[in-house]
Amino acid sequence: MSTIQPLGSNSNGISVVEGGGGVDRPKARAAVRDLFEALRVDLSAPDLLDTPQRVAAMYEELLTPKGFNPTTFPNDDGYDELVLSKDIPFTSLCAHHALPFSGVAHVGYLPGKRILGLSKLARIVHYFSRSLQVQERLTKQIADWLETELTPRGVGVVIDAEHLCMTIRGVQAAGSRTVTSTMYGLLRERDATRQEFLSLIGARS
Ligand SMILES: [Zn+2]
Repeated sequence: MSTIQPLGSNSNGISVVEGGGGVDRPKARAAVRDLFEALRVDLSAPDLLDTPQRVAAMYEELLTPKGFNPTTFPNDDGYDELVLSKDIPFTSLCAHHALPFSGVAHVGYLPGKRILGLSKLARIVHYFSRSLQVQERLTKQIADWLETELTPRGVGVVIDAEHLCMTIRGVQAAGSRTVTSTMYGLLRERDATRQEFLSLIGARS
């Protein structure tokens, strides 16, 4: 599970989000080779020669969060309506099977004293996606990050995703989707604000 290291703050007093790294590539390649060999896969076939290297590189990409500097701006105009990024596409790996789950995240907040750069809502979704995840935890981590770093008057995060571990194996429930949400502050407490958020993201309420 990735964590945000509070290694420094930018000029806004908000923590710089540190990226991952330090992957042991030779060990990862050897481990993938061992796994396939144990599964009786013949890796000497021409098209499989580089497969351990490719699989290791793929997991490195999917499990290494990218750091970023979360720019914020003073809310000088006193904007007090919802700020919402909807349909942010993401892919993560499920903690139980290391199979992808993917879909969209809707992330909104009611600004307090500061406003976050808009692209940063997608960046924080992608940041927390890059680890072995549970959808419920991913949803809460995004909401907690906004709550802690931005101190807004409300936060709403809804994630709607399809889990390959449910559609290609096990119950094989193709097309089924899992929806999770975390709401804080006025989005949790004030019915009208919550309804507005849900209707903006196109959810039935
Ligand atoms: Zn799973």
